[in-house]
Amino acid sequence: MEGIQLATQVTPWLASGRTLFLLIHLLGITGFAYIVAMRLVPLLRAQRDLRFDRPLARVGKVLKFGLAQWKHPRYRVAGILHIFIFAGFICLVIRAFYVLIVGVSENFVMPGLSGEAGHVYNIITDYSATVVFLCMVIAIVRRLVFKPARYAVPEKFGKAHTADAVFLLALIAVLMLADSLFSAARAAGQAQQGQTVEVLAAWSLPWMLKSLLASSSLSALKDVYFGAYLLHEVTFYFLLCYRPFGIQFHVETSLFNLYFAKLERGTVKPVRYGVSDEHLDQVKSFGVKTFEDFTWKHMLDFYSCADCGRCSDNCPANAVGRPLSPRFITTKARDYAFQHYPMFGKSTNHQPLIGNLYSEDEIWSCTTCGACEEECPLLVEYIDKIVDLRRGMIDDGNVPQSLQKPLKALESRGNPYGKLEKKRADWANAKEFRQTCPVKTLDGKNHADTLYFVDSVTSYDDRMQSIGRATAKILDHVGENFGILGAAEKDSGHEVRRFGEETLFMALRDHNVDAIKASGAKRIVTADPHAFNALKHDYKDLPPVEHISQVIASELKSGKIKFNAVENVDDVYTYHDPCYLGRHNQIYDDPRNVLDAIPGLKRVEMSRSRDRSFCCGGGGLAMFYEPKEEERMGVKRVRMAAEAGANVIVTACPFCMVNIEDAIKVAGMEGKMTAIDLAELTEKQMMRESPVVETKGTVEIQQESVAGR
Ligand code: SF4
Ligand code: SF4
Repeated sequence: MEGIQLATQVTPWLASGRTLFLLIHLLGITGFAYIVAMRLVPLLRAQRDLRFDRPLARVGKVLKFGLAQWKHPRYRVAGILHIFIFAGFICLVIRAFYVLIVGVSENFVMPGLSGEAGHVYNIITDYSATVVFLCMVIAIVRRLVFKPARYAVPEKFGKAHTADAVFLLALIAVLMLADSLFSAARAAGQAQQGQTVEVLAAWSLPWMLKSLLASSSLSALKDVYFGAYLLHEVTFYFLLCYRPFGIQFHVETSLFNLYFAKLERGTVKPVRYGVSDEHLDQVKSFGVKTFEDFTWKHMLDFYSCADCGRCSDNCPANAVGRPLSPRFITTKARDYAFQHYPMFGKSTNHQPLIGNLYSEDEIWSCTTCGACEEECPLLVEYIDKIVDLRRGMIDDGNVPQSLQKPLKALESRGNPYGKLEKKRADWANAKEFRQTCPVKTLDGKNHADTLYFVDSVTSYDDRMQSIGRATAKILDHVGENFGILGAAEKDSGHEVRRFGEETLFMALRDHNVDAIKASGAKRIVTADPHAFNALKHDYKDLPPVEHISQVIASELKSGKIKFNAVENVDDVYTYHDPCYLGRHNQIYDDPRNVLDAIPGLKRVEMSRSRDRSFCCGGGGLAMFYEPKEEERMGVKRVRMAAEAGANVIVTACPFCMVNIEDAIKVAGMEGKMTAIDLAELTEKQMMRESPVVETKGTVEIQQESVAGR
């Protein structure tokens, strides 16, 4: 280009352009490499985490959640902004390398981008830079003026990172501006020289800047050209090296975080990866006590969090004012890592986390509902970390008072109530029930194809026993040859494991596995989603397991179950998704299909349903734990049902039933709101063929509904 020197040809007062830019490159790249290496130090000292299996599934996660930005539209404004920014960055990647290289090699042309392809690509990047610039301006205005509530940081969780976020957004805006100015000054110079002018996309930022520069002198254009390039270089490398000090580090780490994300839902990480249950006695200490006890993947989570607040916005513990907000579990740990693993000097580590970084209540407040993980666009994990922190506390003998009794009872009697084993099947022995639906105990003398695994709440809680009887009647009605383990069944240990008591869980699991295998059953059915999740994910080598809602849905299809119309057509039903049926096992449609098959039943959805369902407060042994909170989760849930216009809440979990029925009383909604389990409702509405009535010479089969009795 004549009349306007290329950036490399300008000789500033100290060095030639090329030398200066080369120096900036070297400093920037070396600085970035050093910073990243230092950030990797804690990961190298962390616990193992086996995340190198199933590469195709992992690439699929990157494509879905990274490239396709799958979860972002769940928050419309922020999500769409992010999609535009991300798409803009993707388009600008090649351009960024090109711009960096021309500083030291002015005639460089990106392979494949000469001629027409290069022109097309330039048009795309002009618009991309414009879109990213505008998105940055909108994002800054949003952060500073509209201040979405989920970005706020309550005092108890530390300081807000608003200034950091705004600074980084502004830097990206400057980068886009500098890049556009660089193109604009070059095009304006070409125009003034009567040379072929590089085409700029109409109404793009470079195009508008070129119009502004059109009347500038050549020497001014030269200065703008050089200045814009220098600004671009300095901003680019400053951003690169500054990002690992704050929330923008996720730009570098998030694709790795997605690749190494957990592949299985409903599972809990082992105490130590690579250590089998038989060798656990050789593990010095269980769980996470110090920062270095986290796995490297969990540390990568800390680096990858974008501080968007979506996890906390959906966390029921946070919503009811418990001292837990998942976002801060992550950001506090990241700040800790930055502080204790400094860029220069020795790391200062091995401080206990509980009492310093996290409070006990904070960690016990989690119900393991999974709402945070479901929402996180970067697949940051929480449940495993919380369970690991609990394991650490349990290992130190740090058990909340209210949980000591149920845990002892689980150890001695196999149920949290401390009731006798021989009473475990009392629900099935009620005289009236036995006459209509005798239930076999699979004790070696009796055999059946299907095992109904009842679990503790349904077995011992007087109210929940009705769910057990309803389940048995459904299985009987569809002609299932089934039985129960009776006294040989112990608690599934699902809550025990999530509470962090791994040794007790293993004892319960091993006992149940032996009993189930001895029963000879080929299939397991349960009406308790916690037992369902345990049998499916925490136990191994068992026959296939189904939740009763799946059985009912499939028997509806087969025609073995038919429904009578609802008695009261004015009732409005809503379905509450239990966390361990919905989010953890993706069973959303079967229960809804069952409800929709009942003639005359009106059903509405609550504002938070399916994968955004709001936990009733019963998971992770929380039924026996009394946290500090402003309102019960169940009460909030019951109010959501009322707001949706429902007066009957249907659920499919005895834990939910305990909490929701209790919440109806606490909320003063008795008489206005009722709750019923899906199995109970099915049993109530099932169309039965009454016993064959023989009349003189004819055989009549009467159809009747239990509801009509
Ligand atoms: S699992 Fe549920 S209760 Fe626990 S932190 Fe996540 S959203 Fe909150
Ligand atoms: S963990 Fe995920 S959802 Fe929560 S603030 Fe970080 S990026 Fe957002």
